[in-house]
Amino acid sequence: MSADRFARVRAAMAEQGTDVLLLSVGPDLPWLTGYEAMPLERLTMLVVPVDGDATLVVPRLEAPRVVEKPDLFSLRPWDETDDPIAIVAGLVGGAGSLAVGDKTWARFLVDLQGQLPSATWTKASDVTGPIRAVKDAAEIAALRAASHAADRVAAQLQAGAIALVGRTEAEVSTDIGNRLVAEGHHRVNFAIVAAGENAASPHHEPGHRVIRAGEVVLCDFGGTMAAPDGTGYCSDITRCVSIGQPPAEVADAYAVLLEAQQAAVAAATVGTPCEEVDAVARRIITEAGYGPRFMHRTGHGIGVEEHEDPYVVAGNATPLAPGHAFSVEPGIYTAGGWGMRLEDIVAAADAGPDPLNLADHALVVVDG
Ligand code: ZN
Ligand code: ZN
Ligand code: ZN
Repeated sequence: MSADRFARVRAAMAEQGTDVLLLSVGPDLPWLTGYEAMPLERLTMLVVPVDGDATLVVPRLEAPRVVEKPDLFSLRPWDETDDPIAIVAGLVGGAGSLAVGDKTWARFLVDLQGQLPSATWTKASDVTGPIRAVKDAAEIAALRAASHAADRVAAQLQAGAIALVGRTEAEVSTDIGNRLVAEGHHRVNFAIVAAGENAASPHHEPGHRVIRAGEVVLCDFGGTMAAPDGTGYCSDITRCVSIGQPPAEVADAYAVLLEAQQAAVAAATVGTPCEEVDAVARRIITEAGYGPRFMHRTGHGIGVEEHEDPYVVAGNATPLAPGHAFSVEPGIYTAGGWGMRLEDIVAAADAGPDPLNLADHALVVVDG
């Protein structure tokens, strides 16, 4: 699989006129090699010439962690007194057009630019983004496994198995995170728990606020699950529960939200522009009078990163292709009152939209 990714990356580099790709910390490196660089002050950098052998420049003390793939790249360990920037610059040689990983630290890039003054620089995501956005069957399977693990935690929430009333948002957030790990994730990326008026802030930071009976609680959580290819794929789901019967105003808004979310999922067919999926959800919410209260895009791509291409947002005319995987997550937020969001991960497929999350989409009433 990695050999295929290297081939696709080199083809994209050739097409875009990129001579060398330079990858350090961030998701591109594990996606391509199965090796994730530790975020250290010591430089790790994969040097991929468009038409030569790739080299992984790595601190010698990290080298034992690298699973070597001699057919894909060779190792160039450096010692504590070496200058790794000079080693990378030497490998780049006279190449002029360099694409550098988006999350490469500025301290390394600035030094590289100092030693390669005549090079031109672009973002590696120009090369890797469109390739990573289109998942192969193994990647969709990995995303489905992560989504189903998150579904099981959502089902526990909806079954009332996660105590809410009398606990703080932060306590429930920790509980949800532990359950994500228990269900097979190796890392928790986030667990937003927002009660009552706090749910009106889409990315609320769970705090010391104690959850009370009668409130709607928004839970948006996800993690990364290790995949057989050495990478990991992300989950991301949002479900809201009502502790006791919700007020009519909330129930009415939720009915609109559910309709908008399901219609947007159904609209996510191959060939449909990403922005049209956003427009479908937004139209329904706007026609019901909640338009200004849906202030964020409808979704984002997901893969080895929680947020990646393609973005489901006005202005993105990219047509959905088989293998695109993304969230569909409209929300309605009333400042000072309540908030709600409903989120599934969906894969575009020739047979039609393939929702990877299957947890109950209703505003489930729990005892608390
Ligand atoms: Zn978000
Ligand atoms: Zn989410
Ligand atoms: Zn999301």
